[in-house]
Amino acid sequence: MTTLAVIGAGPAGLTLARVVQRLDAPFDVVVLDRDRGPDDRPQGGTLDMHVGSGQTALERAGLLDVFHAVARPEGQDMRLLAHTGEALVELVAAPDDTANPEIDRGDLRALLLDSLRPGTVRWNARLDRVDGDLVLDDGSRLAADVVVGADGAWSRVRPLLSPAQPAYSGVTFVEFRLPGIDVRRPDLAALVGRGSMSAPYANRSLIAQRNARGVVRGYAALRCPLGTPGLDDRTTLLAHFADYDDALTDLVRAADDGFVVRPIMALDVPHVWEHVPGVTLLGDAAHLMSPFSGLGANLAMLDGSDLALALVEHGPEGIAAYEDLMFPRSEVAARGAAEGIANAIAPDAPAHSLRHLARLQEA
Ligand SMILES: Cc1cc2nc3c(=O)[nH]c(=O)nc-3n(C[C@H](O)[C@H](O)[C@H](O)COP(=O)(O)OP(=O)(O)OC[C@H]3O[C@@H](n4cnc5c(N)ncnc54)[C@H](O)[C@@H]3O)c2cc1C
Repeated sequence: MTTLAVIGAGPAGLTLARVVQRLDAPFDVVVLDRDRGPDDRPQGGTLDMHVGSGQTALERAGLLDVFHAVARPEGQDMRLLAHTGEALVELVAAPDDTANPEIDRGDLRALLLDSLRPGTVRWNARLDRVDGDLVLDDGSRLAADVVVGADGAWSRVRPLLSPAQPAYSGVTFVEFRLPGIDVRRPDLAALVGRGSMSAPYANRSLIAQRNARGVVRGYAALRCPLGTPGLDDRTTLLAHFADYDDALTDLVRAADDGFVVRPIMALDVPHVWEHVPGVTLLGDAAHLMSPFSGLGANLAMLDGSDLALALVEHGPEGIAAYEDLMFPRSEVAARGAAEGIANAIAPDAPAHSLRHLARLQEA
């Protein structure tokens, strides 16, 4: 039996583990994650799973039907607003449109975790480094034939393959939550609609997305120096959006306490490396990009399922075939994501978003 150690129980690592196990491949799979358990930390917002990437991976995992049973096709609705609150574009998903339905990240993780053999994931297992063996933070060591870094932006496996480090995109997101929105603030519920809304204006944007169970998650996005002080303070944050209409900034006023500052980081494009036998990267560890591609989790899962198929077909030598598939497609997506963030959080916003949504409306 070949030992396959996957670092990271995110969308990439869990999909890899599931597809390998589903195909009954001769791999002993262990997934290590630094979280203390599946509910250790809030998993964040909603993800849309695309036909041809995320949904392909779910199909290979045998989970596409379960996904559609919990996903929200109406979450594909999009509203573009001016900073004055005026509606500029409204896209409403057809009832039978299943191209990119939404699912909460926590629900997606649960769906993948439930599909794994018991004991596959080892929680509270933070990788410190790889020096032949995997060395965990608590000093324990683990030997593996194949090591896969699915450990996200700050991967501890990446240094085995490349010196690349994420760099700041120039944009910071401040994340906030509005639970029980339909009861507490029907006006804001209507503003967000069934899917998402954004109001980009002059190097900033207010974005809000409906999640499951009556929660709306918002992001105040702004172009600013890394480490700009006070962004996790409601009053300071509101001052950055002082020229926005109150109908929009009420999202910030009505949010629960606990604003989370997320500088948007990305790896250089392209990020490639010389093949090293027995080691590779998946998902954000390989191609961290801004969320403006809308593809990060989709590619992470496609990577996981592609690597699984390559390992099943060729054994550990399959890694090179997987990398040949993954490098070019992630380069295209990462270039798109870099352009997307430059255009969306721009001095002339919402000009680009208007053109982009008008094209979607015509399609
Ligand atoms: C605001 C925002 C919105 C987004 N929206 C979308 C969207 O709509 N659609 C989309 O497709 N993508 C979206 N993305 C991108 C998406 O979240 C990521 O691309 C995706 O989560 C990558 O999955 P992953 O499995 O590669 O990494 P992650 O999800 O980061 O998972 C990595 C896992 O590794 C674990 N880990 C990390 N370090 C260690 C260690 N040293 N030892 C052990 N475990 C470790 C972590 O605990 C985590 O569980 C968004 C991102 C952001 C920031």
